[in-house]
Amino acid sequence: MDAKHKVIKVAVEKHYAAIKDANEWLTELRKRCGHPIIEIVGYEWAPGHVDPNVKVCGVCGEKIHDPLQNIHIQDSDQSI
Ligand SMILES: [Zn+2]
Repeated sequence: MDAKHKVIKVAVEKHYAAIKDANEWLTELRKRCGHPIIEIVGYEWAPGHVDPNVKVCGVCGEKIHDPLQNIHIQDSDQSI
């Protein structure tokens, strides 16, 4: 592998690691959220496939599957 492609490979691996870290952090934030605000939106679950009336949290963007999931007690002292 030439020098140019070694640099590209290192950069790609670095960015994949950043994506993995971001996904883990989003998962943690969504666990903490409690989803106090529910919005009805069009949700594109795959390119060209939109469900028109999907409930998502207006704070963290989590797709809400169970309406009872909105009944969590909020802990206002918990900081990020
Ligand atoms: Zn939420």
